[in-house]
Amino acid sequence: MAFVITEPCIGVKDASCVDVCPVNCIKSSPEAEQYFIDPGTCTNCNYCEPVCPVTAIFDAFNVPAQYDAYILKNKQFFS
Ligand code: SF4
Ligand code: SF4
Repeated sequence: MAFVITEPCIGVKDASCVDVCPVNCIKSSPEAEQYFIDPGTCTNCNYCEPVCPVTAIFDAFNVPAQYDAYILKNKQFFS
């Protein structure tokens, strides 16, 4: 399982996580409201989670229930 970016990223998008990801798997687009993690590339290194200023990043196994839908949203961004 990969790490997942959830709702608190919306409107923040400061890319702190992008700067620390060693495999460059955190992406967005000008139209997207948030950043997303490619679950096929993420190595679960956990470098990104502590640098997020709004606690938007979770291990997929520990995503809070209210953010469950973001597991699929992250995956779909790359499909
Ligand atoms: S856990 Fe590591 S590999 Fe996965 S998105 Fe975060 S920094 Fe990148
Ligand atoms: S560090 Fe947090 S708020 Fe900033 S882009 Fe990454 S997930 Fe979004």
